[in-house]
Amino acid sequence: MKKKQFKSESKRLLDLMINSIYTNKDIFLRELISNGSDAIDKLYYESLTNKDLKIKKKDLAINISVNNDNKALIIEDNGIGMTEEELENNLGTIAKSGTLAFKEMMDKKKDINIIGQFGVGFYSAFMISKKIVVESKSINSNQGYSWVSDGLDGYTISECDRKENGTKITLYLKDDTDDFTYSDYISDYKIKNLVTKYSDYISYPIIYNNETLNSMVPLWKKNKKDIKEEDYNNFYSDKYYDYEKPVKVIHTSAEGMISYNALLFIPSHTPMDYYTKEYEKGLSLYSNGVLIMENCKDLLPDYLAFVKGVVDTEDVSLNISREMLQQTRSIQLIEKNIDSKVRKELEDMLNNDRENYKKFFEAFGPQLKFGVYNNFGMDKDKLKDLLLFYSSKKKDYITLKEYISNMKEGQESIYYASGETIDKIDNMPQIEQVKDKDYEILYLTDYIDEFAITALQEYEGKKFSNVKEEKLDLDEDKKEITKKLNEDNKDLLNIMKESINVSEVRFTNKLKNHPVCLTTKGEVSLDMEKVINAMPTDQKVKAEEVLEINEDHKIKDKLIDLYNNNKEELKNYTKILYSEARLIEGLQIDNPTEISNLICDIISK
Ligand code: ADP
Repeated sequence: MKKKQFKSESKRLLDLMINSIYTNKDIFLRELISNGSDAIDKLYYESLTNKDLKIKKKDLAINISVNNDNKALIIEDNGIGMTEEELENNLGTIAKSGTLAFKEMMDKKKDINIIGQFGVGFYSAFMISKKIVVESKSINSNQGYSWVSDGLDGYTISECDRKENGTKITLYLKDDTDDFTYSDYISDYKIKNLVTKYSDYISYPIIYNNETLNSMVPLWKKNKKDIKEEDYNNFYSDKYYDYEKPVKVIHTSAEGMISYNALLFIPSHTPMDYYTKEYEKGLSLYSNGVLIMENCKDLLPDYLAFVKGVVDTEDVSLNISREMLQQTRSIQLIEKNIDSKVRKELEDMLNNDRENYKKFFEAFGPQLKFGVYNNFGMDKDKLKDLLLFYSSKKKDYITLKEYISNMKEGQESIYYASGETIDKIDNMPQIEQVKDKDYEILYLTDYIDEFAITALQEYEGKKFSNVKEEKLDLDEDKKEITKKLNEDNKDLLNIMKESINVSEVRFTNKLKNHPVCLTTKGEVSLDMEKVINAMPTDQKVKAEEVLEINEDHKIKDKLIDLYNNNKEELKNYTKILYSEARLIEGLQIDNPTEISNLICDIISK
C-alpha cells in the first residue's frame, strides 16, 4: 500500500496542530461532531428527493465511545459517508472555507491563539492524537474505505469491511506528558463537559453510554434569557470564521401571518471580499431545524448584504426548489420583516450607541449609501436616516436630521463639499463664503457620497447645495457689482476662456483672500467626473468647469493690464491660473511640462 503525502499547505496546518502551540485543544471534539452532523444533514436532505434511501429520522445520531485499552476515543455518525475519492480529497488537503480562512489569517497575523475561533476542521484532531483512523462508507458506494494517518508522514487509504453508511473516526490519544494529560479525553466527565459546552445545539442526538448528552435545541430556538453573550459570539465566530465580535446581535422571532426564528449578526468590520463580486449575501434557511439552504439571498435586501445569520421557519416546505423560493410568499414576508427589524436596530444603535454605530458605518456605510441611489432611489426613504456625514462644525459625523436641527435662521439649503480628505476640503477656497455665514457644511470624502446626495435631492424640504457649484452666491450686497464687472470685461474673459478648455471664466466675490477656484455648472460635479471616469466602463463624462477669479485680488488688475498690453501673455497667465485651480481640487494637469516652463519664464523675468 502506497503512502501519500499531504498537500503542502495542509502540511503546514498539520504541523501546527501536531505541535499544538495552541492551548485550547478541546475544540477538536466540536469539529468532529459538527462534521458528523453535517454528514447526517446531507444524508437527510438527499433522502427527501431520493426515495431509494430509506432513512429513519429517529435513528440518525452521533455516537461517542471509548476504548480504554488502546486509549482511543471514537466518534461515529450514520451520515452520508465518504467514497475513496472523497477521503482522498477531503482529508488529504485543506478543503474548506474555514480552514482556508484560518490559513490566510495565519499568513497575515501569525497569532495562534485565535485558532479556536475558526472552523479548523478535521485536522484539529491531530492536536491530541498520535494516530487517526477514519473508516467510512458512502451511500454511493458498496465498499467501505479506511484512511489512516499519524499526521506526520502522509496517509494511506485502503478497503475496509464497514457495511453501514457513515463514518467512524478513531483517535488514538497521544501519550500523557508532564504538561498535558491527553487521557482526560476518554474520561466521562470530560466528554460530557465538552459536548454540552460546544455541541449542545447540534440537532441530532450525541449519544455516549446510552445517554443523549445534548439538548438539541439550536441557539436561535432557545429562550433569550438562557443565552449568554458569549454563546452568541461563539456561534458567530464558529459559523462565519470571524474572530472579531459582531457589532450587533439580533435575536428575533415572529408569530402569526408568518412564523420564524431568526438569529442575525452585523459584523464589526468589512469582510475582505465584501466589496467584490465574490461576496454573496444571504442567510442560512432552516425549516424546523433542518438546513435547507446555506445561503438564501432572497431573505435580505441588497443594502443589508452585510447581515449574517440564520432563519428557521415552518412555513416553507423542506423539498422546495431554489427557483421556487424567491416566489414563495412566506420568504418575501420574512425578508420584509427582517429588513425593517434590522433597520430599526440600526436606528437604535445610531441613537443610543453612537460610537458603535460609527464603527458599523465605517465598515458598511458605503453599502447603505449605495442603497440610497441604487434602483433609481427606490429605497432612499428607508435609508436616509441611517446615513452619517462629517460636519464642518461638529468635527464629527452627524445625521441629516441633526443637520436640519442645527440650521441657522434664513438658511435655505443643506451645504456640502466633496474632496479627498477632510483636511483638503477644509482648506478649499470655495467653502469660505459658506463658513463666513456660519452655515454648517457636510464634508463628503467617500466617492459614493455625492451620488447618494444627488439621489436624495432634498431632506425634509431642504435642498442639497454643492458649495463648489458656480451658481452658489451668498453675498447679496455684491451681486450687482460683480455682474457689472463681468459684463464690462466680457472680451477679456472670453480670451481667457478660449485659451483653456472650460465653459466659462468669470470674476467672483466668493473667494475672500484666495485668487482662484474651480466650480461647475450642471449635474456633473468635478468629484463625480473623477469617480465616473475612473470606472472601467466606456461611459466618460466631463463636468462643465468654471474658472472663477477673485475680483478683490490684485491678480484682477494684472489680468486687465495684460489684456490692454500683451494678449499672448494673458493666455499664458490664464493657463497657470487654471492649473492652480485644478491642483487645489486634487485634479491632474494635462500639460505639466508646458505649465512649469511658463512659470519658469515668468519667474526668470
Ligand atoms: P470542514 O468541515 O470545514 O469542511 P474538515 O477538514 O473538517 O473541514 O472536513 C473536510 C471535509 O471532509 C468536509 O467538508 C466533508 O466533506 C468531509 N468530512 C469530514 N468529516 C466527515 C464525516 N464525518 N462524514 C462525511 N464527510 C466528512
